[in-house]
Amino acid sequence: MKESCGLIGIYNNKEAARLAYFGLYALQHRGQEGAGIATWDGKKIREHRGMGLVAEVFNERHLSIELKGDIAIGHVRYSTTGASLLRNVQPFITYFKGLHLAVGHNGNLVNTVELRRELESKGALFQTTTDSEIFVHLAAHNLTGHTIEEALSIACSKVKGAYSLLALVNDKLIAIRDPYGFRPLVIGRLGTSYVISSETCALDLLEAEYIREVEPGEMIVIDKGNLRSYFLENRQEKRRCCIFELIYFARPDSTVFGKNIYITRKAMGMALAEEAPVDADFCMPFPDSGVYAAVGYVQRSGIPFETAMIRNHYVGRTFIQPSQDMRDFGVRMKLNPVKDMIKDKRIVIIEDSIVRGTTIRSRIKKLRELGARELHLRVSCPPIKFPCFYGIDFSSKGELIAANHTVKDIERFIGLDSLYYLSLDGLIKACGGEDNFCLACFNGDYPVVPSKEYGKLFFDIFVG
Ligand code: 5GP
Ligand code: MG
Repeated sequence: MKESCGLIGIYNNKEAARLAYFGLYALQHRGQEGAGIATWDGKKIREHRGMGLVAEVFNERHLSIELKGDIAIGHVRYSTTGASLLRNVQPFITYFKGLHLAVGHNGNLVNTVELRRELESKGALFQTTTDSEIFVHLAAHNLTGHTIEEALSIACSKVKGAYSLLALVNDKLIAIRDPYGFRPLVIGRLGTSYVISSETCALDLLEAEYIREVEPGEMIVIDKGNLRSYFLENRQEKRRCCIFELIYFARPDSTVFGKNIYITRKAMGMALAEEAPVDADFCMPFPDSGVYAAVGYVQRSGIPFETAMIRNHYVGRTFIQPSQDMRDFGVRMKLNPVKDMIKDKRIVIIEDSIVRGTTIRSRIKKLRELGARELHLRVSCPPIKFPCFYGIDFSSKGELIAANHTVKDIERFIGLDSLYYLSLDGLIKACGGEDNFCLACFNGDYPVVPSKEYGKLFFDIFVG
């Protein structure tokens, strides 16, 4: 199971649940399948979780009455297998040895099958298929003789893969980022309150001041008004931040891994214009994700900018559709060209990424039908050839169009006059040039190798 999710934590605020709610609103792009908030009311954990968008899951009664307390954690979930079950919506809540524990996780672990088998053989009864629950069981099994912080750090030494984690343990808020820092996590301050968030766009909305990232391999513990920092034992020398956060996933108004997304995407577009110039009447993005690279492309090339492909904002992410037919229909619903702009035109199209090829297959065909004279596609990242095991939805190699076809094949098959993907070097330069990124989806170099049994599911009930 792969999950790309959003996390928010609020410490020391009378309106903790409401702030968490607005924070999740700002992080909605990171997951639309389900949302949940847990609060500490001074005696116990309160929770509300549901399927759907943040605005659908919570009402005023939840925020003002049920979710009392001045510490909160919240989660938006985007799972990509069939396991759309309420029980998998986070935070995962449990009670043991007098502790009330709520955990939310962003990322994907790669050794859950083994860990789960081992824990089950010791009698653990799993309620969900989420990675959050693995952490909880590992912590519970290691609590004897240890503090909860120690038990959680032992849990971290056993899991492998990507995790940005928020835990609410009685009156403590704990934030952990895996040793490679695959997924983002930042700390902000709002008066005497702390805010922890996947992205800075949530801090902006709450008018919290950005302090810094939770470092890769760092555990932050906030209690009694103080923030303490610890490092996990298996801290790595090099970060391996997910470059796809910069290409597609994070919001352009966010600063992620210390980089503003908008400016970074613009730099990718500029690099594209330098690497693969082409003469054309205008340049247009496939919105919304292609917009920022397109701005860079036109600024560097001098080609006029148009927005001749219109996005319907009320359609969810087309990826979530389980069958290819439904995905094709979803793309049509989502992206529709302005007919009168297309006929006889030579067009450069900017797309942030090509995964399965669904979007370009359907939309390029449409542009041809409308009489476009030349169609040149420029993609602001290299060909995606390898699946992601750390939380981005490139499920299997079989589905990835660039894993199975050359660029020339794709160009011909889609009916393009030219197709160009940004070089890996160009991409890295646009992202600041450091050796800081996980590039596995482009080069197959996996920082953490998945266990042999990766991907095996446990019970059919969870597959839906
Ligand atoms: P494709 O249509 O080739 O399968 O996917 C590429 C399109 O989906 C691009 O327009 C890109 O912006 C978007 N995209 C890329 N990665 C993801 C992802 O992980 N989730 C979702 N929902 N969309 C994605
Ligand atoms: Mg897109």
